[in-house]
Amino acid sequence: MSTVVLDNVTKIYPGGYLAVDRMNLRAEEGELLVLLGPSGCGKSTLLRMIAGLEEITSGDLWLGGQLANNLAPRDRDVAMVFQNGALYPHRTVRGNLSFPLEIAKADPTMVKQRVVELSRALHIDETLDRRPGTLSGGQRQRVAMGRAIVRQPSLFLMDEPLSNLDAGMRTELRMEISSLVRALGVTTIYVTHDQVEALTLADRIAIMNRGVLQDIGTPAQVYNDPATAFTAAFLNSQQLNLLAATVRTPQNQFIMLDFGPHQITMPWTDPRAYAVSQHTGTQIIVGIRPDGLVPVPERTEGPTFFGRVRTLEYHGHEWLAYLEAGIPAVNVPEPPDRRQLNGTGGGGKARSMMRRLLNGSAPAEEEEPQPALAQSGTHRRADLIVRLGNRPVWRAGDAGRVAVDVSRLMLFTMDGTRIDPPRR
Ligand code: ADP
Repeated sequence: MSTVVLDNVTKIYPGGYLAVDRMNLRAEEGELLVLLGPSGCGKSTLLRMIAGLEEITSGDLWLGGQLANNLAPRDRDVAMVFQNGALYPHRTVRGNLSFPLEIAKADPTMVKQRVVELSRALHIDETLDRRPGTLSGGQRQRVAMGRAIVRQPSLFLMDEPLSNLDAGMRTELRMEISSLVRALGVTTIYVTHDQVEALTLADRIAIMNRGVLQDIGTPAQVYNDPATAFTAAFLNSQQLNLLAATVRTPQNQFIMLDFGPHQITMPWTDPRAYAVSQHTGTQIIVGIRPDGLVPVPERTEGPTFFGRVRTLEYHGHEWLAYLEAGIPAVNVPEPPDRRQLNGTGGGGKARSMMRRLLNGSAPAEEEEPQPALAQSGTHRRADLIVRLGNRPVWRAGDAGRVAVDVSRLMLFTMDGTRIDPPRR
């Protein structure tokens, strides 16, 4: 069993592509840590650096308290499972499972027993004498996992192990991975771009974008109390309303979030009030989940928005309504892209950062990204997305009013950073 610590780890690929940017992360002993982010954000690169399959450009990797930057992969006591769990085609399932123990010259009686036990735990005991070519995708992935687990590594690394399976199999195997790695107590780092997989599996989730860590916490922490607007949007399987509002404090009596045609007040007693008031006179981003807006009768007291229902969308378990309310919306703010070598912008920075890293000096502060107003602030008048539950209370063209649950508003600066500090 092993802790994993990444201390300011950066990866610049030959040619100057900055794939992982000063990553700090700690996986506790026995923890199931999920790395989540869109395709290309650097998750696999990070995992491969931990496995020793990719060199670390700068920063330190500690495995079980030992500095591991230059440790050979075979000395890391790490097992890895990939998307296409490659198996030996000419060996049976039994042969595949026993192979890692055989090359470690383990006692044959122990090997036999362990293979049977593990195959039962993975529900592949009936396939032990079959060859991989005759198995389903789900069974093959189970064997691949079994082969990785069988010699009881200190650290288990999984790179999108379920993404090639159909939805039903994915759900089934997800539950099994969860109970198996927890029963074994092996520290596990699991890479996925699927937010449902991350929320259901993880002890904690680390969210990445463009090579940069966005947030880390338990599933409930990052979902309910996200550190960045990117995290809030990425974890939301429905779309997230991201609205532009100006903060006002009329005669210091209360805080007003001015959305243009609509205003919402926040009393000074709100725990976020002081932090928000520091932004008086400036524009901020207000995030509201579709279920934070509740249809109410026309004459309703308290904070509300109103508009015209443009369209309704049926999602099986619920209806979503699109309400035209004239409120300026913003795109999801992302960290500035500093990764590209070609063209202007980020590439030059990646290149100069590499030069400095190679010269042994730390990245200078002036390299810090500036607030991405131009990127994030593209105002458009988007519809409010409202969750209606399983009964469509409106029809297209209706006038609609929604109550706003002020306690559930998520407040960000224009570069997507939380205004009131998230609790971790
Ligand atoms: P993810 O796992 O999040 O999809 P990866 O870690 O595979 O992302 O890749 C991160 C970025 O690094 C991608 O833009 C990818 O094209 C780039 N990349 C990956 N491997 C290499 C390589 N060997 N050489 C250059 N660039 C690479």
